[in-house]
Amino acid sequence: MKPWVLGLTGGIGSGKTAVADRFASLGAHVVDADQAARWVVESGRPALQQIVEHFGEDVLLQSGELDRATLRQRIFDDPAERQWLEKLLHPLIRAEVAQQLALADSSYAIMVSPLLIESGQYRQVGRVLVVDVPESLQIARTTARDQASEEQVRAILSAQVQREERLKHADDVLVNDRDLSWLGVEVERLHRFYLTLRGGQE
Ligand code: ATP
Repeated sequence: MKPWVLGLTGGIGSGKTAVADRFASLGAHVVDADQAARWVVESGRPALQQIVEHFGEDVLLQSGELDRATLRQRIFDDPAERQWLEKLLHPLIRAEVAQQLALADSSYAIMVSPLLIESGQYRQVGRVLVVDVPESLQIARTTARDQASEEQVRAILSAQVQREERLKHADDVLVNDRDLSWLGVEVERLHRFYLTLRGGQE
């Protein structure tokens, strides 16, 4: 039977990767939408050629790979350019994710996406799991992980969908405010539950 898809999301530094890694170690097939977004612009893929034709050679590194920082700068305060890029990439990312999800040999597959709610992708999954933490922990963990300043993390937080809005779309909420071994136990509990579901519903 075709696996059903669990959408896994949460704000910056909430613990999506930590949670996804634990599901993967239990045998769940995990696809990361961020990774798919990188694959579709790899050297030799047609999207990269189109980006270069549109923005010019400046968006390439010497190695011929996409210079993400420069591209981000180019679309930062130019909504029309941002829209052009999203129109090109979103269908490609969706196709890439669908292709990866179809490879799953587990009874359910997990799509990790920081923008599951913002992008509307939550409508295409069987169930939504939100990893939720208080903002103070998001900031503490992200600054420790990325050497980012509190100000930078707050800027990203304010660009993401509000916590309450994300939680509205959740079927399950994993509150990641304790240690990593506790997180592992919670993931195991959810995994056992998910194995009993058909199509993501009870
Ligand atoms: P982003 O959206 O920025 O990619 P994320 O949601 O994937 O972040 P993680 O990278 O999984 O978040 O977690 C952020 C940091 O917090 C990591 O360094 C991770 O190891 C740590 N972390 C996650 N959960 C816990 C926990 N329960 N206890 C301690 N540290 C944790």
